[in-house]
Amino acid sequence: MNTPRYPDLTADCSSCAALCCVVFAFDRSESFGIDKAAGEVCPNLDSCGRCGIFNDRSELGFSGCIAYDCHGAGQRVTQEVFHGTSWRDNPGLTTRMGEALSVLRQIHEKLLLLTAAETLPLDHGERQTLSELQLHLAPDESWTEERLKKFPLADTSRQVSLFLTGLRRHFTAQD
Ligand code: SF4
Repeated sequence: MNTPRYPDLTADCSSCAALCCVVFAFDRSESFGIDKAAGEVCPNLDSCGRCGIFNDRSELGFSGCIAYDCHGAGQRVTQEVFHGTSWRDNPGLTTRMGEALSVLRQIHEKLLLLTAAETLPLDHGERQTLSELQLHLAPDESWTEERLKKFPLADTSRQVSLFLTGLRRHFTAQD
């Protein structure tokens, strides 16, 4: 896995404790074939952490699983924040891992947007703001539960949105 400064924004399910199959609640709908409470292990998850219906999820009514992307946050929560231990070793970790995943996934989502902005012909000020936001979202230090809890997500999301909105001129110029 990459260093915390340059996190991998692509999901690596082999390094994750199948968090998305456990921590989230599903409602039976066109996206999910069953009702499942948050923290309940999906009955389709096998003891090795693999989805037993992986290739048939769409046909069996689990298209929501295909659509979900943690953007690399799942493996980081498992390996970096919880050091490879998981809800399987200690069911008391399920809620804590879910809370960490929800924050880190949003951080990775913002990093993905900022990575796309890197390719634009930014001016000096924009490039500086971009670097500052990236450093804030991908600091040198590893993430811990405590640091994720204290992370100012709402304020950072506003700053990222404001920055990206200011880049609209690059798109209108190409029209
Ligand atoms: S259906 Fe498969 S991918 Fe979806 S939550 Fe259950 S085990 Fe995970």
